[in-house]
Amino acid sequence: HSKNNNNVNISMYNRSMTDTIENNVTLEQKIRTAIEENNLYFVLQPQYNTKTKKIRGFEALARMKDEFGNYISPSSFIPVAEKTGLIISIDNWVIRSSMIFFKKILEITKENLMLSVNISVLHLLNKGFLDEIQQMLDETGFPPSQLEIEITESVFISSMTKAIETLNDLKEIGVCIALDDFGTGYSSLSYLSKLPIDLLKIDKSFIDELLLSESGRNYVAAIISIGHIMNFSVISEGVESQKQLDILASLGSDYMQGYLWGKPMLPKDVVKLLGISA
Ligand code: C2E
Ligand code: MG
Ligand code: MG
Ligand code: MG
Repeated sequence: HSKNNNNVNISMYNRSMTDTIENNVTLEQKIRTAIEENNLYFVLQPQYNTKTKKIRGFEALARMKDEFGNYISPSSFIPVAEKTGLIISIDNWVIRSSMIFFKKILEITKENLMLSVNISVLHLLNKGFLDEIQQMLDETGFPPSQLEIEITESVFISSMTKAIETLNDLKEIGVCIALDDFGTGYSSLSYLSKLPIDLLKIDKSFIDELLLSESGRNYVAAIISIGHIMNFSVISEGVESQKQLDILASLGSDYMQGYLWGKPMLPKDVVKLLGISA
């Protein structure tokens, strides 16, 4: 009897594993199709100076629809794209397209706005990465000092030496570096001081804790202090309420990004927000 039971369990387990694999294969196919058929697009989320309330710049975020026009969320396609290596095509498409668009914005506004783009670990450690970025800068005539590359701490688990080397090369061509989702990964003070970073992005999970507990608030205060001691600017991600913003301003967070002041938006809405006609 118990043997039978076991068999049932085993086969159910196998079946659900197969389902997951099949789902991922389908999603992988959907991602490939989306890339091929131009169902990939990007949105831009504004970042603001906490004190002056002026726009600092925008973060470009990948978006995708399947062949039926259904929206696929980044939390489902990004992990699969990372596993399959498709993330490199996605990153490159988002970087090039957002640079082409934002170059026009810079020409019209003549403002010192930043464009931030996300780079997956796999991509950063890829051999051709630096040349690709350099080529896109050359092609678009985009000012390197207004391009910011967002990386996560996981790059340092994969390969600290290679990652630092690539980041230094990026700095040399004039591009800025932001450390994304700070505090959620492999944070260590000893590596922070070795990194050529310009901006620390405090992860939303910390911002969520801000109003919930004394310790939540202390963590954020500590992260901001560390950032400033290291001479980084600090931006808070996922700011949704005025109360959070008030505390963040009092704690000295230089910038903020969040639904409170701006959701990720289509390029045409960026044009509206900036009050220009492009
Ligand atoms: P991220 O780089 O940390 O981007 C911030 C995420 O927080 C975005 O989610 C943004 O829409 C969301 N967000 C911003 N403000 C708020 C807020 O006030 N409330 C809430 N609830 N959410 C907020 P999104 O667009 O779903 O992207 C998720 C993640 O996917 C990104 O996190 C990034 O790690 C990755 N990703 C997105 N586009 C790309 C890309 O082109 N390349 C790579 N490699 N990764 C990307
Ligand atoms: Mg990011
Ligand atoms: Mg983040
Ligand atoms: Mg993230």
